[in-house]
Amino acid sequence: MEASPLRHVPSIDRLLATEAAQKWVGLYGRDLVLEALRAAQGALREAILRGEPMADLEAAALAYAEGRLEAYIQPTLRPVINATGVVLHTNLGRAPLSDEVLEAMRAVGEGYSNLEFDLAEGRRGSRYVHAEALLCRLTGAEAALVVNNNAGAVLLTLAALAAGREVIISRGQLVEIGGGFRIPEVMAQSGARLVEVGTTNRTYVRDYEAALSERTAALMRVHTSNFRLSGFVAQPALGELVALAHQRGLWLFDDLGSGTLLDTAPLGLAHEPMVQESVEAGTDIVTFSGDKLLGGPQAGFILGRRDLIERLRRFPLTRALRVDKTTLAGIQANLLHYLKGEALQKIPIWQMLSLSPEAIEERAKALVRALGPAGARCDLWPGCSMVGGGSLPEESLPTTLIALPAGEAEAQARALRLGQPAVVTRIAEGRVVLDLRTVLPREEPALARRVREVIGE
Ligand SMILES: *Cc1c(COP(=O)(O)O)cnc(C)c1O
Repeated sequence: MEASPLRHVPSIDRLLATEAAQKWVGLYGRDLVLEALRAAQGALREAILRGEPMADLEAAALAYAEGRLEAYIQPTLRPVINATGVVLHTNLGRAPLSDEVLEAMRAVGEGYSNLEFDLAEGRRGSRYVHAEALLCRLTGAEAALVVNNNAGAVLLTLAALAAGREVIISRGQLVEIGGGFRIPEVMAQSGARLVEVGTTNRTYVRDYEAALSERTAALMRVHTSNFRLSGFVAQPALGELVALAHQRGLWLFDDLGSGTLLDTAPLGLAHEPMVQESVEAGTDIVTFSGDKLLGGPQAGFILGRRDLIERLRRFPLTRALRVDKTTLAGIQANLLHYLKGEALQKIPIWQMLSLSPEAIEERAKALVRALGPAGARCDLWPGCSMVGGGSLPEESLPTTLIALPAGEAEAQARALRLGQPAVVTRIAEGRVVLDLRTVLPREEPALARRVREVIGE
């Protein structure tokens, strides 16, 4: 009878004694190496039973184990190159951060800080003071509070200030923002009662007025962010809603979504509602995101009347939405870019949004040249970059796309995603296309290398 072919599978002891395994023990620790070697033995046995020819079983086991070890230590969250041309890509982490923001986060993260410590008095302080003065100075607001994200800001505002009472909102603004954030559902979660007025396309001030009652807490406006109604549409001006609310002793809540401190119109985009405009119109609470057009770390900003912000600060849910010290440090550094008038030059998303089509075309040509002979099989196409992040839907900026050589576009895109670093692209007209607007200049050499790996020389 023939002995089992499995008897040739090298033992754990033998594998562990190899020079390679000994080196891994130093790098990864003995437990992880043992786990990888056992997995390698298992894979080898299966391959043998399938009848796969294998010349050197030890080498095969070690190669498999090495792959396993690399996979174990590979972080699941890692940098990717965004070649989609969508500047605020929520799935890709929204805003890349400026050097100054990263430096501030590092400085506060690597040691202790005065997060909740008053250095002048030598006693307990509040983490909520840190970005407040800057936010107020930049926007004209009386007071400000920073929480984890804008979804949290909206939930907190409604829960703390309107639970058990009614909030009036236009049917044209009962939107779903994405990621399951639906205004009616958030309202239900908060305990505030939604009173819908008007129609999907047209709502007038008199509709709000007719819905007022002694149960009303506030009027709310929501920026419809990622969708546009056009044609026979009407919404009252913010100032009209503020006037009505104040006349009746109520407060007006404006959820701006992205919000912006810089005007988007000079970039050739539609005008995205600005935080300063909302404050100027007299809104009592305005909320917006830290990582959409603000271009900083993830956060939710709540600005407005001092007495209302004070109530929010004392509300228990605030504790559950609080931001970390590194986030606060990053927010301050990001806001400083606006204060110093250098936001367009220093904040990555604003740099990307303000890149000229000519500058992108130059970079696209240079990248194609860097591909060597393979570059000749690529094409440059005129195309569009998108803002994304729920801001400015249907708005685009002219760009130059690099179309990779015709082939199995889905397979090419997958290969680009799966290598190191991962590259995320779009497919247009059956070709993989790269938009360099969202690629950081320092990423271009790595991008060229990855493209060469996938399309060959
Ligand atoms: C994006 C958005 C939100 C959610 O903001 P996050 O910071 O992503 O939590 C809420 N409301 C509107 C109108 C938005 O556009």
